[in-house]
Amino acid sequence: MIGQYHILEKIPEKKIRQQVRRLARIITQEYQSREPVLIGVLNGVFLFFADLVREISIPLKIDFVRVVSYGSQDVSSGKITLTKDIEVPIEGKPVIIIEDIVDTGLTLCHLVNHIKEKKPESVKICALISKLERREKEIQIDYWGFEIKEGFLVGYGLDYNEQFRYLPYILSLDMRDKS
Ligand code: 5GP
Repeated sequence: MIGQYHILEKIPEKKIRQQVRRLARIITQEYQSREPVLIGVLNGVFLFFADLVREISIPLKIDFVRVVSYGSQDVSSGKITLTKDIEVPIEGKPVIIIEDIVDTGLTLCHLVNHIKEKKPESVKICALISKLERREKEIQIDYWGFEIKEGFLVGYGLDYNEQFRYLPYILSLDMRDKS
């Protein structure tokens, strides 16, 4: 139990670290001498982003966007508003969007279109978790850490009502406990 919620599954710190290192190695190899701009999607990405960039061993630039999706607490509505845009120029640059979790794909779809309007050289997507069951938009996730079928995850940046972001591991909560 954590608070009033039963825990269905746990992704421990060690497994997260392994995946973060693997993703960092791939990005390091693929972006040698290219100085990519890594764009993190706030708030959920903050721990993954911080750990990932410290494992990448080539020069890069970083920036963030903040996206708000109005809907119920655990389902994306598809109505997406950008409340913070990037400030680093990306025209002609290789961009990697760093996301915590991709669920329906609506957020990323909107974001990729927005970023492409700024005419980067390329846009790739790196997500710690790809959640498959509710995918609505066919979106290519170029680099991903964990693929899961379903569930509501918290911890390692991910929240439920702003709770649990600080946990160093990821938990899948039983949302039948929420009422
Ligand atoms: P999408 O637009 O792909 O449906 O959703 C993306 C956003 O929804 C994520 O960046 C995240 O903020 C939120 N989200 C989707 N699934 C989960 C989940 O299992 N747990 C948490 N905490 N947030 C999620």
